[in-house]
Amino acid sequence: MVHDLRNTEKQRCCAVCGQAFPRSQLRSAALMRPHLFELVQGEVEGWSADSFICDGDMARYRRRYVETLLEDERGELSELDQRVLDSLEAGASTVQEIGRPSTEPSPTFGEKAADAVASFGGSWVFILSFCLFLALWIMTNIWLLRAAAFDPYPFILLNLLLSCVAALQAPVIMMSQRRQEQKDRQRAENDYMINLRAELEIRNLHEKIDHQMAHQWERLAELQQIQIDLLERRER
Ligand SMILES: [Zn+2]
Repeated sequence: MVHDLRNTEKQRCCAVCGQAFPRSQLRSAALMRPHLFELVQGEVEGWSADSFICDGDMARYRRRYVETLLEDERGELSELDQRVLDSLEAGASTVQEIGRPSTEPSPTFGEKAADAVASFGGSWVFILSFCLFLALWIMTNIWLLRAAAFDPYPFILLNLLLSCVAALQAPVIMMSQRRQEQKDRQRAENDYMINLRAELEIRNLHEKIDHQMAHQWERLAELQQIQIDLLERRER
């Protein structure tokens, strides 16, 4: 019987959803930040400082509060903002969510080839080997083959070849650049999400600390008053 009583004492009802939870999964309304408290008060009847709220509802209201906060500041929320809010509500780490392997398809053979060609085309090895190739071509046609030269001075075939290489190199480099831009954008988006999450958490902490300080201050003043009363009684 005693055991039962103790059990019922530990179980409290969440004022929002009305379900019973063990005390460890509930939070006291008195310890909630004023903004959140007001948000819940506006929607839940009979909500007071003695009420309790379950972790799930708390997370939901926290998300709603941050959502309205962000919307007030910058209007429409982007998909990135929503993702940060999702991880905030779930209590998960934004860094971990970003770190998960993306659902993007892996680069195709053509894209990989474009990357390889672009990186080779932008190296000293390419420049030097190309100079060597030009020198060989010119020397072969001037000195080695002489009368039987397949591309005599002023090297029209070599000209054609060079224009072809230049014409093909440009689109390959552009392809590779586009992929690089995508990667950069992804990185910038990730940075934005982590920064936003950090900003929101710091704001939360600020509010929480301010509230706790005020709360503690009240209790200290109360204690002091009690002590003064006791002293006065003793003197009498
Ligand atoms: Zn609840």
